[in-house]
Amino acid sequence: MSLPQQTTVLIVGAGPCGMAAALSLNHQGIHDIVIVDALLAGENSSRAMVIQAATLEVRRHYFVECVHSTTSTVSTAFLSVGNKVETLGLHDGPSYLLSTDFSLLSPYTKFPFALGIPQTKTEAGMLEKLDQLGIKVWRPFKVVSLKPSQDEGRSFEVRFESGDIIKARFAAKLELRSRIPMATNSTIMETFPSWPSATWHLPPPPQFAIPNQGVSITVSDGNFTLFARFPAKASPDKTRPVYRIACSVPVADGTAPHAPSAEYLQSLLDRVGPPALSSDPGINPHPTRIDHVYWSSRYRTRSAIADGYFAPTPNGTGAVLLIGDAAHIHSPIGGQGMSLGIRDAISLGPVLKAHIVESGANNKLFEDWASSRRQRALSVIALTKETMRIITAPQKIWSPFVTLGFAVLRFFGKFNFVKRMVAYRLSGLAEI
Ligand SMILES: Cc1cc2nc3c(=O)[nH]c(=O)nc-3n(C[C@H](O)[C@H](O)[C@H](O)COP(=O)(O)OP(=O)(O)OC[C@H]3O[C@@H](n4cnc5c(N)ncnc54)[C@H](O)[C@@H]3O)c2cc1C
Repeated sequence: MSLPQQTTVLIVGAGPCGMAAALSLNHQGIHDIVIVDALLAGENSSRAMVIQAATLEVRRHYFVECVHSTTSTVSTAFLSVGNKVETLGLHDGPSYLLSTDFSLLSPYTKFPFALGIPQTKTEAGMLEKLDQLGIKVWRPFKVVSLKPSQDEGRSFEVRFESGDIIKARFAAKLELRSRIPMATNSTIMETFPSWPSATWHLPPPPQFAIPNQGVSITVSDGNFTLFARFPAKASPDKTRPVYRIACSVPVADGTAPHAPSAEYLQSLLDRVGPPALSSDPGINPHPTRIDHVYWSSRYRTRSAIADGYFAPTPNGTGAVLLIGDAAHIHSPIGGQGMSLGIRDAISLGPVLKAHIVESGANNKLFEDWASSRRQRALSVIALTKETMRIITAPQKIWSPFVTLGFAVLRFFGKFNFVKRMVAYRLSGLAEI
C-alpha cells in the first residue's frame, strides 16, 4: 500500500513518544494523522526499564488504557505486565548511601512506585492500542527532508527515501533536525564519552542480597552498576525472572563491544559490580554467574536539548514540533527520558487541537507549550547530570571529598523527608 499524499499531522518516528502523540491526537478528535517509521519493525532493545508515576498519572487520552489492566482492552496493559519498583537504593559496595522509598508518595499519587517494565512491552502495548483504533504505523518509511511546500507556506513537503512525498500541515517528533532548515538547533550540554553503558538480561542467580522490588545503583570508584529484577511475566520466555543491568565501562577497558557477551559482562561485574553479583567466591560468599544473555547492547550517553521545540511554517498556519528524544536527551540514569517524552507527546494533543480548531494561526499556544516542556526537560537534565556526577565520582583520586560527600548522603539519606524529596523528584510529579 502506498503512503497517503497529504495529512494534517505527520508523526515521524513510531517509538514510544511518537505512538503516545498519535494516541493523544486521536483522543482529541484529530484523526487525520500519518505515523511513519524508518525501521521495518519496532526496536527490540529494551532501553527504558521504568515508567515514572507522573507518566502513569497522565489522563485524558488512550494512553491511560495502555496503563490499566482493569479497564483496558490491551492485552499487554502495563500495570499487569510490569512490577512495582518501590525503592531505589544507592550503594557504596555493600553499604547503603541512600534509599529512596516511592511509597512515601502515596499522598500525592495513585501510583506510589515506578513501574518496572521493559520498553519493548511499553511499545507493544501502545502499538496494540493504535491497532485497535485503526491507526496504522507506516514502515519502513524514512524521512530524508522537510521544506515549506509551494502553497503559500501553509504546509510542509516531506520527502522519503522511497521517493514518496507527503504534504503535512504539522510535523511532530522528527529525528532529523539537522537536515530541516526551519527546525531548531540543539545545544549539547554534556557528553560522557568515557562512560558508555551496557544493558543486558541475565537469569536469576541462586542467591541475592538486593531487594526484589527495587532498583539499585552501586558505585565503585568512578563506575556504577544499575541492577533491576523483572518478574517472569515480563521476561522473554515467561518462565523465570530476569535481571537487567546497566553499567559504566572503566576508561581503561576502551569501548564496550556492540553486543557484549556473558563473559565480558561477568568480567565487568566481577571488577566493578556489587559484591552480590560477583562470581568470585573471595568477594561473594554465594557466587553467581550469568548463564544466559537475552540481549545486550551498548550506549553512549550525552545531554542535549533543542534550542526551541517548534518552528512555524512561513505563514504560521503549520508547524514542526519536537517531542521525546528529538527534543531532549540525557543519561538514562534515573529512568526519565521516555517518561518525560510521553508526557511531552500527551500534552501536545490538546495544544494542537486548540491550534487547529479554535484559534487558527495563533502560535502563542505553541510558544507557551514549547517553553513549558523545555523547562521540564532542563530540570530533568539537571537531575541526571547531578546523579551522574555523584555516581561517577572517582573515589581514589578525590578520596577525602568523596568520602565526606558520601558520609553526608548516608546521614541525610536516613530521613524520610529526604527519601520523599528524592522520590518526588524522580517520579516527575513536580513537572507533569
Ligand atoms: C540504556 C537506556 C536505558 C533507558 N532507561 C530509561 C528508563 O528506565 N525510563 C525512561 O523513561 N527512559 C529510559 N531511557 C530513554 C528512552 O529509551 C528514550 O527516551 C525513548 O526511547 C525515547 O523515545 P522516542 O519515541 O522519543 O524515540 P525512539 O525510541 O528513539 O524512537 C524514534 C523512532 O524514530 C524513528 N526514526 C528516526 N529517524 C527517522 C526518520 N528519518 N524517518 C522515519 N523514522 C525515523 C526510529 O526508527 C525510531 O523508531 C533509556 C535509554 C537508554 C539508552
